Amino acid sequence: MATSLLLHVDADSFFASVILRHRPELVDRPMAAIAHVFIASANYPARLRGVRGGMQVHEAQHLCPELVMIETPRDEVEEVSDALFDIFRDSARAVEPGSMEEAFLDIGTTDIRVAVDAAQSLRRRVARELGIPISVGIGRTKLMAKLASRAAKPDGLHVIDDAEAAELRISLPISDIWGIGAQTVERLRLIEVAHLADLDRISPEELRRVCGAGMAHRLDRIRAGTDDATLNPVETRSSLSSEGTISGYNRPDWTPSELLEACVTRVCGRASKADLAAGGLTVALRFDGGDAPVILKHRMPSATSDPRAWLPEMLRLLAAAQQPGLIAVKATLTALVPPERVQQTLF
Ligand SMILES: [Mg+2]
Repeated sequence: MATSLLLHVDADSFFASVILRHRPELVDRPMAAIAHVFIASANYPARLRGVRGGMQVHEAQHLCPELVMIETPRDEVEEVSDALFDIFRDSARAVEPGSMEEAFLDIGTTDIRVAVDAAQSLRRRVARELGIPISVGIGRTKLMAKLASRAAKPDGLHVIDDAEAAELRISLPISDIWGIGAQTVERLRLIEVAHLADLDRISPEELRRVCGAGMAHRLDRIRAGTDDATLNPVETRSSLSSEGTISGYNRPDWTPSELLEACVTRVCGRASKADLAAGGLTVALRFDGGDAPVILKHRMPSATSDPRAWLPEMLRLLAAAQQPGLIAVKATLTALVPPERVQQTLF
């Protein structure tokens, strides 16, 4: 039996698109969403000028002096992400999240026309209800759906049908496969494997030696067309995060406790809106020049999404961990349970 077609759905320039909802005059001008000293997301006019996510602000300004930069509205971005996933769950029988703005959807059809109709109405619905563009790729495996959404960008729809998939399983550059690191690509290049078809000349032992058993197995399956065609759906989320930076572009700096409070309050608000309560809270503190974040953890005997329950202990832990140069905070509620499970633990 043929497996369902998969949709890969990805918001275009997500953070920038959320800002542009209120700043339509900037749509055709280069603009970027900023977090700390980095470009979090650039719109397409900015990308045409070479501005990329992850770039330092001064690098981006050098490439594009007229770049309009706006602080990322974390609260609004997280709200739109929650609403986006509500629409995904409403539109599909299974959803496998990729990031806060990206997911695979199984809509339970093997018919390409049905899948295309569903993808178009999903795109219209997200544009209408959330005011942001998404691109949708359709394919028989996760890799093909993901390659299709990449080809669909920006604000488009692309189908990789069986004929195109067969062609890609020969000609696809190894570097275009998602989840394969630059080091592995380089090691394969040294044995003259640059495209999928080049794998045919390599013995299984050599392939395993060069890129490890796990990756060798994955590449074999991609070449043979037997790679992942089913999703690992997530029924309810097991964790939820909100994050923020201490210094904002064009906004006054926060104190460390103000930033912690803002993140904890926001993530608790999102949990209670989703009807979830948390048994644990983890806060990651990132300091200037520190490689690994400092982690604060607290657990509750009974799950809650009330920020007033979490904040006193977290502020105490923050004060104990305080050192100069705090850059960013990420608050993650863990062990999330729906309210009925909370009652079970209470009685
Ligand atoms: Mg995206």
